[in-house]
Amino acid sequence: MMASPLKLLLLAAVLLAACASSAHAGEEEVHEVKTAGVEAPEAEPPAPEEHDTAGHESDSDEDSHEDDHDDDHSWSYDGEAGPEKWSHLGYSQCSGQRQSPINVVTNRVIRRHFKPIVFENFNQIPEEMNMTNNFHSAKATLDWERTPKISSGGLPGEYRVINFHFHWGRMDYRGSEHTIDGESYPLEMHIVSQNTKYDELSEALQHPDGLAVMGIMFEVSRANNRAMKRLEPALRRIVKGGASVSVDEPPRLQDLMPWNTNDFYRYDGSLTTPNCNEVVTWTIFLETVKITQKQLELFRALKKNPAPIGRNYRPPQARYGRSVYLSQPEEEEVETIGFAGKTAAVRSGAPALTAGPLAALLTSPLAMRLLF
Ligand SMILES: [Zn+2]
Repeated sequence: MMASPLKLLLLAAVLLAACASSAHAGEEEVHEVKTAGVEAPEAEPPAPEEHDTAGHESDSDEDSHEDDHDDDHSWSYDGEAGPEKWSHLGYSQCSGQRQSPINVVTNRVIRRHFKPIVFENFNQIPEEMNMTNNFHSAKATLDWERTPKISSGGLPGEYRVINFHFHWGRMDYRGSEHTIDGESYPLEMHIVSQNTKYDELSEALQHPDGLAVMGIMFEVSRANNRAMKRLEPALRRIVKGGASVSVDEPPRLQDLMPWNTNDFYRYDGSLTTPNCNEVVTWTIFLETVKITQKQLELFRALKKNPAPIGRNYRPPQARYGRSVYLSQPEEEEVETIGFAGKTAAVRSGAPALTAGPLAALLTSPLAMRLLF
């Protein structure tokens, strides 16, 4: 069939856009800016979880942000010890009014102009990384020459990274803990950081500013995610609950993160696993990271002896009037701010922020269907 003039025009524009952003071609394939919904105030989301008063119907589970409970078998993600029962199992904080995750309702967020998050040492390769199946999740613990830290960005302090881990589901349409207008993602990564003013995690867990967690949403793609590929061998070796292995070639933290860290949601919440401590300043990035179906299946294959972990997301919790902020830089600021671990040239290549409606159209699923 002959290509229509419209298709040819779109194809030419796409090729131009691809050339323009070739400065970071190596990684562009694994990142995508998600803006849909943010500018659509009329779109009332289905928000099945937006029950501010009913709250607490949970059907989720989660891994532990908290080292103390890594091998705790007293709670799970379904059945008698499922999320809706956690507060009855002795984890009283799980029924509090500052719980996580939440469903972000984009037409109710408050626009707030936070300074960019400052990332330190996110571009170094860890000296050592261990990946553990802790019966609830796949969790990476790391040793660094210089510990990665985050600050500014509206965070109530400086925070050092202590681990990262993942949440997933059995099917692609569920898996993330946070949802955006009721929409789930197949995988959510949490990078957990501890306020540097507290020496011990146990101390940080007692204070409302104790932890900061960055949530990163993944989308399935055929594009190869090279950073995630470095985790593949370790994931294959921790199928059994309790297994822990060293990652031979650990990725840099920044390579597991989205390009655009300037656009994020922010709210005060909790750990999403018992003890559900209400000590977390949450940052949820709008831009997603890509993962292949094959890589996603490696998470789904993890077991808690003998059954698969299956799913390890806690459902969204009631907001109880908490504010959720959306921080986005002004257009003219995009060129001068950004990921401290990346170069200015890369930063200025953030195409979806600077290229406007045409680029948004060209990278939309509709355009892709038209073209191919
Ligand atoms: Zn988590």
